[in-house]
Amino acid sequence: MSSFEEFGLRKEILSAITEMGFEEPTPIQAETIPYLLIPNADMIGLAQTGTGKTAGFGLPILQQIDFGQKTIQALVLCPTRELCMQITKDMQRFSKYMPEFKIVAVYGGASIQPQIQALKSGVHMVVATPGRAIDLLNRKLLKVQHVKWLVLDEADEMLSMGFKDDLDTLLAETPPAKQTMLFSATMPNEIREIAGTYMHDPVLISVGKKNSGAENVQHEFYVVHAKDRYAALKRIVDLYPLIYGIVFCRTRAETQEVADKLMGEGYNADVLHGDLSQAQRDFVMNRFRLKHLQLLVATDVAARGLDVNDLTHVINYNLPDELEVYIHRSGRTGRAGKTGTSISIIHTREPQKIPQLEKLLSKKFIRREVPGGMEICKNQLFSLIDKVETVEVNESQIGPFLEGIYSKLSRFERDELIKKFVSVEFNRFLSFYENAPDLNVNVHDHKFPERGEGKPRRDRASFSRIFINLGTKNNMTPSSLIGLINDRTGHKSIQIGKIEMMKKFSFIEVDSRFEREVMGSFRDCNIDGVDVAVELKTSEGPKERSWEKRPVDFKSPKRKSNRNDKKRW
Ligand code: AMP
Repeated sequence: MSSFEEFGLRKEILSAITEMGFEEPTPIQAETIPYLLIPNADMIGLAQTGTGKTAGFGLPILQQIDFGQKTIQALVLCPTRELCMQITKDMQRFSKYMPEFKIVAVYGGASIQPQIQALKSGVHMVVATPGRAIDLLNRKLLKVQHVKWLVLDEADEMLSMGFKDDLDTLLAETPPAKQTMLFSATMPNEIREIAGTYMHDPVLISVGKKNSGAENVQHEFYVVHAKDRYAALKRIVDLYPLIYGIVFCRTRAETQEVADKLMGEGYNADVLHGDLSQAQRDFVMNRFRLKHLQLLVATDVAARGLDVNDLTHVINYNLPDELEVYIHRSGRTGRAGKTGTSISIIHTREPQKIPQLEKLLSKKFIRREVPGGMEICKNQLFSLIDKVETVEVNESQIGPFLEGIYSKLSRFERDELIKKFVSVEFNRFLSFYENAPDLNVNVHDHKFPERGEGKPRRDRASFSRIFINLGTKNNMTPSSLIGLINDRTGHKSIQIGKIEMMKKFSFIEVDSRFEREVMGSFRDCNIDGVDVAVELKTSEGPKERSWEKRPVDFKSPKRKSNRNDKKRW
């Protein structure tokens, strides 16, 4: 594994990135940095946001800038103001120990005067949106004749936002003897055209497969009648009480309508689209970044500038017209080593789109059933129990009220009291979903994969049921249990069936072929002070004694596809 030192980067850069926590180069950096340190070698990088591409082009540029010359030597063009600011901020952090380095971000939707001032004072690097760059070029304030490095970041986004003519103008203005680096998540024909016209024998550097979405994203879809789309959305959202995601809609009107309905029904949601002023957009994005909002209902264009790394879900309220847009949407989750789910709600006339997407992404899409009331109530209930388990009690604040509370509740037994407390939340969902209809479309009417797992369920007999003395009390969840098995066995291809979790122990079904391997992997294993014990079980486990001991029948979360997975950094 190469390290940043091996690239021969300046010690000022090394100190700064070490402070930022960069220990080793990401896959794209490992490829681009040594390559870009060679003068005049053009390059196309197929990479998405979140892969570390900013340092991939930023560090070699910083290494080679001539601080003696106060001319614009590096020009970075990117689609949005937010990305512009993000790249500039990253460059400032990389150059923390190089105070002589001067950079400015120029973008629309903000006063041009400070940007003009900064340009006049002399900068080495400009990060710009194409529209504002053209404006400044026309005013003869952006002087690009000394540019040595030209970066086109998220080039496919710039093209789909209609910046082709601006890019042509800017590319033609820069000197021919420069190094051009083009980054794009996808490779549409227009990118090939740009490469053919303006780049010299570019090398193609790609991390992961061509056109592949994020590795850690699971793709799921629900099939409903168009009239049930909103009801299905609500059920999906209700199924995941801790959801933190973006709901993508096609038009501004639809975005507003869905957001209004969600907000009206008490969901922690807000809206983001182009009809809002920049200040309103900033406000909403900020609330979302700070997780004060759980759901953001957005159009593709408006969500472009939003850089959030830990979304749990992306929901396609509609599939986009252009399938490549799906790659961008779904790539917003499953970042920075985390897993995420991209959910599409599709109607009965769209069956052909799923195989097309599967082909484009080389990934299997899983068809899910729109959850019914009981499934939702169960998830909500256990999410509430998790919250109760972990909530911090503020003794001093609640203290004065406790005596009155105890005396009011003293006539109830413990079990009764627990039931009453959880019912406060449970009843809300129960009554809402009491007569909820089945929203699923009959599978036989349409050309969709079967409901459920997207492939035939494994025969139950081919699973082995293993007892493990870890449960919710040990802060275990179904996913962490699966994660533990992955870690202990060292591979992720073992299929997991049903998981039943109780406080102090769990039962987990594993592919029988790996039964011995899984059992053996827990030898001499201690987790948070518990010596882990595993046992093979053939019976159906302990009898239920009281409701709170009832095993929770979790659906096993789908794991990321295995064999060919690249280890993420
Ligand atoms: P980017 O794709 O450039 O937006 O980077 C995504 C995130 O990864 C940013 O927060 C970077 O600071 C971070 N990052 C980039 N390179 C590395 C690295 N080598 N090690 C750790 N984090 C990194």
